[in-house]
Amino acid sequence: MTEQTSPMSAERYAESLYAQDEMLSRVEEGIRANGMPEISIAAGYGRLLTLLVKLSGAKRVLEIGALGGYSGICLARGLEEQGKLVSLELKPDFAEVARRHLTEAGFGDRVEYRIGEALDSLDVLEQEGARFDFYFIDADKGNYVNYLERAIRLANPGAIIVGDNALMHGRVVDPAVTSNSVQVMRRFNQMMATDPRLESTLLPAYDGLCIARVKG
Ligand code: MG
Repeated sequence: MTEQTSPMSAERYAESLYAQDEMLSRVEEGIRANGMPEISIAAGYGRLLTLLVKLSGAKRVLEIGALGGYSGICLARGLEEQGKLVSLELKPDFAEVARRHLTEAGFGDRVEYRIGEALDSLDVLEQEGARFDFYFIDADKGNYVNYLERAIRLANPGAIIVGDNALMHGRVVDPAVTSNSVQVMRRFNQMMATDPRLESTLLPAYDGLCIARVKG
């Protein structure tokens, strides 16, 4: 065994405790092979998504931003038999890759993809009278506040809302960064923390994860 010459990061230590997840490794390979951005949720937060869906007993889960299906699988793993995942994805080719991965993981019949601008899909879902128990927001950062407002509007009492990339690789905490997406993320984090309709916390490990419960 080689001696550690520098301390292992807490995140690497945590990851070292878990066996490699073969299914999720295949998803990561598929994402690379399809030339898609390698920005799936961190493994530790993927496990947290599964736990949160399970613990909350959520039956209807809405994901905003499917990418290659990594987080979709993590969410679907937490669902009970009758649970359902609706996943919004801008790009048809990304949704196709995600669908393929969810099917390979055995969740093909639990997931429904809706392709196009997420705000348009949310309009349609609202017109359909859809309600959700769990949200995972992981899409274009410039719309995070809009997505949060919509999520609250379509939420069943006690619904859980999770937002990824709350720190945007440190840009959110750097006052010199004033780009629109970073300013929106700061507003999103602020709203998660202070909106009277929510109770929440922000986990600062990896790239930051915001978790809220809609008061019911
Ligand atoms: Mg993300």
